[in-house]
Amino acid sequence: QFVLGETIDKAQLAAVRASQSQPQLRFSFDMLGEGARTQADASANFVAYEQALQRVIQSTASSRSLPVANDGISIKLSALCPRYEAAHAQSVLETLTPQVWRLCQMAAAHGINLTIDAEEVDRLELSLRVFDALAARIATECPSWQGFGLAIQAYQTRALDVIAHIVATAQRCGIKLMCRLVKGAYWDAEIKRAQVLGVSNYPVYTHKHHTDVSYLACAQTMLAAHDVIYSQFATHNAGTMAAVMQLANQAGAAFELQRLHGMGEGVYREALKNPLVVCRVYAPVGSHTSLLAYLVRRLLENGANSSFVNLLSDSDVPMSNLLASPLLLNSESALPLPLTLFLPRKNSQGLDLTDAKQFSPLLAAYDACTLGPVPLFDPSDANAAFKLAHTAYLTWRTRSVHDRAATLLRAADALEQAMPHFCALLVKEAYKTWPDAVSEVREAVDFLRYYADQALSTLEPVTMPGPTGETNILTLKPRGVWVCISPWNFPLAIFTGQIAAALVTGNSVLAKPAPQTPFVAKALIDLLIRAGIPPDAVQLCHGEGTKVGAALVELPAIAGVVFTGSTAVTKHINRVLAAKEGAITPLIAETGGINAMVVDSTALPEQVADAVIQSAFLSAGQRCSALRLLCVHEAVADHMIEMIVGAAQLLQCAEHSDLATDVGRVIDDAAFERMSRYIALRRATSAELIGHTVGINQQLKLIAPHAFEVSRIQDVTQEVFGPVLHIVRWNGEVDAVIEQINDLGYGLTLGVQTRIDSRAQRMTQLAAVGNVYINRNTTGAVVGVQPFGGQGQSGTGPKAGGPHYLQRFCTEQTVTVNTTAAGGNVALMSQ
Ligand code: FAD
Repeated sequence: QFVLGETIDKAQLAAVRASQSQPQLRFSFDMLGEGARTQADASANFVAYEQALQRVIQSTASSRSLPVANDGISIKLSALCPRYEAAHAQSVLETLTPQVWRLCQMAAAHGINLTIDAEEVDRLELSLRVFDALAARIATECPSWQGFGLAIQAYQTRALDVIAHIVATAQRCGIKLMCRLVKGAYWDAEIKRAQVLGVSNYPVYTHKHHTDVSYLACAQTMLAAHDVIYSQFATHNAGTMAAVMQLANQAGAAFELQRLHGMGEGVYREALKNPLVVCRVYAPVGSHTSLLAYLVRRLLENGANSSFVNLLSDSDVPMSNLLASPLLLNSESALPLPLTLFLPRKNSQGLDLTDAKQFSPLLAAYDACTLGPVPLFDPSDANAAFKLAHTAYLTWRTRSVHDRAATLLRAADALEQAMPHFCALLVKEAYKTWPDAVSEVREAVDFLRYYADQALSTLEPVTMPGPTGETNILTLKPRGVWVCISPWNFPLAIFTGQIAAALVTGNSVLAKPAPQTPFVAKALIDLLIRAGIPPDAVQLCHGEGTKVGAALVELPAIAGVVFTGSTAVTKHINRVLAAKEGAITPLIAETGGINAMVVDSTALPEQVADAVIQSAFLSAGQRCSALRLLCVHEAVADHMIEMIVGAAQLLQCAEHSDLATDVGRVIDDAAFERMSRYIALRRATSAELIGHTVGINQQLKLIAPHAFEVSRIQDVTQEVFGPVLHIVRWNGEVDAVIEQINDLGYGLTLGVQTRIDSRAQRMTQLAAVGNVYINRNTTGAVVGVQPFGGQGQSGTGPKAGGPHYLQRFCTEQTVTVNTTAAGGNVALMSQ
């Protein structure tokens, strides 16, 4: 037997072969492990592949000269390239292709086969580009080698097109290729990704038997092209095996079956009784650390209700069901499409930017859009603006909630339609990267729809219980004119959210955007007015916070202030409001935080690295939810830090409008100066773990990711609104860590990374924060899914995008009617 996690040597391989019916068996080494996160990972993986290949070469019986008869190796391109992403296609092609070519040369020289694994759907086109480039090189340098191959996933709706592409490549290059047909190993992840992206369709089939039918259609297509393709069928499903054997027979094509080591042994024992059947066993090789994830994956896959292996082990499932043709099965309940996930509310339409067709309208809009000047609001006009807003409020509040909600829904549709234009504005004015811009437009659309939807239920009068002879009804009513003040870091989403909540509850709004981003704000106000909001009910007041913001907040009769920004300004507004005569004015504030992530010694390093990179450095750290303080258990700290540093060094810090850019410029000179000063100061006292090659670029206003090691949690005393991370090592009890984080006084987000559920629950229970994220990144809260907002110095609540938000924009009124006033209790008497 192969021993998982051990190196496989020649003797072991020979022993395995001897123990099985040798002539029909071939092996492939399948290297375990996650995709590379750092260049060091990638280099180590390359060496491992070379060594594995070397071993296959050494153990290959010399009598078997053709790759189909020889053992082989299977490689994951993402293991060799840490940024194996469509946005980095150019550099992937330049650096990865030559490396894989070296492996191909080794394999070709010894008649070994080398197959490229199929990975996630969004990597397919990139894999095909690498594959095509290599095929072209094989055509010129070793055209007689017939051992180069690619795995194809039948669960992808594009599977037949991929096969057509491979056949065409083989024909064009005049070579024979291998093609491993699998059903696909990432189904659950693909479904989630499509839902998160909000794309129109799933890229994979959503019924198991559709995948099975697709498999057969693909098999037939591959077998028909047997002059240029050697078909390899990787499956443990006896029905699928029987079907492909028949299809191969009909096509008169040579083929092989493939299974994973340790799986499908019973079924294959039977199949191999037919001496014409050739089987290749995939032998997982790797380190013990990569073993757990692999075994969990196998458990999940085989434990799935629909899995053949699972059904096979269930003695209650009759043979006829087990082997039923997928063509005869009916579709049962379907998964909701990404856009219908939140029905009755429509989900916002997203874009897959790895698809050039979806990205090009954004680029066209970017080229077409120019930012014009936005008139400044004169603070001395504040009273006049208030009067207009108040008059508008008196009418607007009388419109039915259905009417107001419908107006918001029209605005949402219009905004969704104008996605390319608004993305372009965000990239131009707020220096957003493209993925951030798309997310932000979606968030704004979601706010409009969510609050419209919420208003219908929240504003519904509530009948209270009471004694006979009276009715008691509780209603929510608007308050009046709200001042909405929003920040530049989400100039569309937060701006829209605040305004939409105030308007749908029947209030009117004086909206002050951040001085850095008035154009986006103006575009949104224009859109709201076109959708039917009366212009005086939503007035744009553009200008400095100290002038325009101050004048609006000081207006004596405003109904409330909703503010997102710094803690210091929140406190100032709070004091101004408190000092006023007359009614007590409510304040809804969302401010910043010193957001922490606690990593224990059981956490998955790759998952931690991904979460830290996304949370601390993307969006140039300019999110209030961004990670500022990483607390890593000392037992794993060295390894984790090494991986995070390695991953951060691969981030592309450049012009933000380039799709490949991860970290773009910061918002303005003042922010740039502030962060530069902070970094310089930190350098003097703390060890600098990440100081990027780009470092700090004055001209481009780029602050590259930085990380400093601090000795105590208390050493981090302020929110630095940029890509600057502090890392601290901890030991002892996790309770004490959470206590120290709580003592910082903020309470916005907390990341928890652990594989121990009870520990995650304990930390959640102790943490005084608004949003806890377990085993994932801490940014990107979704409206209506992760209601967002903190406590302590991080905000007043209620949470934006949550079910309790709208109430704060309202006053409550209970109406009690004595129904016996007419002379008697009619209802009671008639019972
Ligand atoms: P079955 O139980 O008949 O089918 C399981 C398949 O159905 C899975 O693909 C699952 O995702 C799919 N499925 C389950 N529910 C649904 C649903 N509701 N709608 C649609 N589809 C559904 N996988 C890769 O992705 N890339 C590879 O490179 C790769 N290499 C492999 C190599 C070998 C030798 C083997 C044996 C497998 C390989 N796999 C690879 C994994 C392979 O995709 C799975 O083992 C395979 O999914 C199991 O298929 P089956 O026919 O044995 O099982």
